Amino acid sequence: MTIPNSILKEHILRALKEIDKSGVPEKRRSKRYCLDYEGKHYPPKYVISKAAIYSISRELEPNEFSGGKSPGCANPFLESRGFQIIECNCGGKSGHQNCNILKEA
Ligand SMILES: [Zn+2]
Repeated sequence: MTIPNSILKEHILRALKEIDKSGVPEKRRSKRYCLDYEGKHYPPKYVISKAAIYSISRELEPNEFSGGKSPGCANPFLESRGFQIIECNCGGKSGHQNCNILKEA
């Protein structure tokens, strides 16, 4: 399954707010990438899973789509919705403030 095109930026923003409140489960942390939004980091795949609730009325399971930067995967999808993905190993913990970020200058 590919990531549903019906997931819009507004759905993703709602997911980020929810993750701010509920946090990120240990096993849903990211390994290599973070979605960076207003200085906070989120795991890209988990964000899409949660955003799906507002679009197709259910959470996407991690095995239903792929993470990473290949076409059709989580990173380009989120970038197409206007979000920034960076390489980072913090795991995307919500509200992470002192990240060892490889920020581009
Ligand atoms: Zn991070």
